[in-house]
Amino acid sequence: MANLWLIKIGEISLKKGNRAYFERLLKENIKRRFADIGAQTQITIRSGRYYLETELEESRVSAILASTPGINAFSRARKVKKNLDALLDASLETARECLGRGSGMRFKFEVRRVDKSLPLNCYDYARELGAMLLGAVPGLKVDVHNPDFVIRVELREWGYVYEDQRPGTGGLPVGSGGRGMLLLSGGIDSPVAGYLMARRGLTLTAIHFHTPPYTSGESHDKVLRLAAALAPCCGGITLLTVPFTDCQVRLSRAVDTPALTLHSRACMMRIAELCARQRRCGALITGESLGQVASQTLESMAYTDQSVALPVFRPLVGMDKEQIIHYARAIGSYDISIEPFADCCSLFSPENPLTRPNVAEQREKFAAVEGLEALMAEAAGNAAEARFNSHGVKIGDD
Ligand code: ATP
Ligand code: MG
Repeated sequence: MANLWLIKIGEISLKKGNRAYFERLLKENIKRRFADIGAQTQITIRSGRYYLETELEESRVSAILASTPGINAFSRARKVKKNLDALLDASLETARECLGRGSGMRFKFEVRRVDKSLPLNCYDYARELGAMLLGAVPGLKVDVHNPDFVIRVELREWGYVYEDQRPGTGGLPVGSGGRGMLLLSGGIDSPVAGYLMARRGLTLTAIHFHTPPYTSGESHDKVLRLAAALAPCCGGITLLTVPFTDCQVRLSRAVDTPALTLHSRACMMRIAELCARQRRCGALITGESLGQVASQTLESMAYTDQSVALPVFRPLVGMDKEQIIHYARAIGSYDISIEPFADCCSLFSPENPLTRPNVAEQREKFAAVEGLEALMAEAAGNAAEARFNSHGVKIGDD
């Protein structure tokens, strides 16, 4: 038999004229996540509330709903007639489930009465149901201040009984904000940056620069796994892998060593921009955080910003490492990120990097690197593509 789930939205409910568009998009995103594993769903939206019916097992539904941006909270619910007997039966089943999970005996009811034609008010419903539940299960106690579990009853066109509101991701549905290209390294930061922008509604394409033979196959495999880990909260993701060796070697011969990281980063941004335009992405996203490393000073960011025309989003710019790690653990990228395979930036990074570049001066130096324009275009043309569905399963590549 199908289970019913109640889904609550947050920020979408603040939308005015185009709220229906956001609601429809979220519904499509949820449906696609179920369809990607061949599961059937029925979703109806009423007064900003989503009612989802599916036969898929509870733990898998929960994992899907917890990682889909646009959802604020969700609960497994029982849908019953609005009379006290039916509400009590559903409450009893709900209480037994809580106790079966090892919950303590103190409970309370929280009742919301949307249907104003009903004979009792919220308080009366809570009192009646509470008394009936106490009579039915020996040992239970009402505790309105410190309950071990809360049974929620909503009286709308039907009665809905549920407990345990589980937190969702919040934010906006993926796709509502356009498309962005995420510069994905093998580190801790960039997957988190991608997650935060997906949560603001961007559909992501990730781009990774690798430098064989200086970087290994393991290092590339790690990035593929990072993209797969990120895919659920992005509704699926495409990863482009760009061969960067020729650009990196050309730069390391042409520019002063302290400025190498700066120019490598600008070069990546330029190639990312070429790929972004081909794929109709309107912004670049990086995992930079102000002052975290020598190449992430205000002046360095000003330099990389001016090297491209597209807006650069840096959602981690004001965060410290602890906050970033907290997110990385939550999305499951942290353990992959800390694997030891070297990235091209660390291999080519100078001992004393330039931290306060003069933008105009460095810009001239970059423009003077012979043949770089052609190498960047070639690198963009040689990008290899891998696609992951909304469960991180690879569904196609070059
Ligand atoms: P991360 O933990 O994301 O690797 P980091 O602290 O190591 O970040 P840097 O190496 O300075 O910082 O990189 C800053 C940003 O530049 C990264 O967050 C990422 O967006 C981008 N970047 C760096 N290296 C690569 C790469 N090889 N491919 C794609 N993007 C990269
Ligand atoms: Mg890095």
